[in-house]
Amino acid sequence: DEKQVLLNCENVVKRYGSLAAVDGMSLSVAAGEIVGIGGPNGAGKTTFFDVITGITPLTEGSIAFDGHDITGLGADRICQLGMARTFQLNAAFESLTVRENIDVATYFGRAKRTFPGLRLGPEAREQTEEALAFVGLAAKADQTVGQLPVLDRKLLMIAGAIATRPKILFLDEPVGGLNTTEIDLIMELVLKLKGEGMTVVLIEHVMRFLLALSSRVLIMHHGKKIFEGLPNQVAEDPVVVATYLGEG
Ligand code: ATP
Repeated sequence: DEKQVLLNCENVVKRYGSLAAVDGMSLSVAAGEIVGIGGPNGAGKTTFFDVITGITPLTEGSIAFDGHDITGLGADRICQLGMARTFQLNAAFESLTVRENIDVATYFGRAKRTFPGLRLGPEAREQTEEALAFVGLAAKADQTVGQLPVLDRKLLMIAGAIATRPKILFLDEPVGGLNTTEIDLIMELVLKLKGEGMTVVLIEHVMRFLLALSSRVLIMHHGKKIFEGLPNQVAEDPVVVATYLGEG
């Protein structure tokens, strides 16, 4: 049976001056799918996420999400329609606690209109606690973020994204800088999200992680899609091997 298309990007272009960081990317994501995006440094992966999630405006193309044309909408509106993301580098309020950081996400997420004013109502409080528990950070809720090790910071960003109650989650290098055990832990977490029906698009250089989780893989190079297919086809693709996998 045909799965519902949740996200549809058509011929998306993002130029910075004369550089086309994203150069005609199309991507369709069905509800419940995990799509993985790989490719060399500077391929335009993060910029593609930035454009989809409204962090930066696109130059050309169109993006539809969950029945809405979101082309040109700002990140706050897009978040409230049900998109959330994490960032490659830490994005958190360093001097706030773990819980306070998640509260900010809860406040700006999809429950926002239910809770006017800066105080979170009981339902929103629950949303924060659920997100903390989901990633296993409940015991560290009162710690200041600045003291956290790298794994906990990754978990914090995922918790923040979850707290906005997204329909689709974008993860930008969720295991970058982590060791094998930590990578496995994040992998379990993504599988748990998938089990709950979450739709995920992830960028990752760690191929083991990318290939194990994704039902479909895209490889980008110079802003373009040079491969789209099943995980087990990636390593056999001559263009991918020549431009990306051959590197290391
Ligand atoms: P990595 O794997 O290293 O994270 P990436 O595939 O995510 O790389 P991007 O970060 O999207 O690549 O960068 C794509 C290209 O766009 C690079 O050449 C980068 O220098 C350029 N770029 C990104 N953001 C900007 C910006 N704000 N202004 C100018 N150029 C930018």
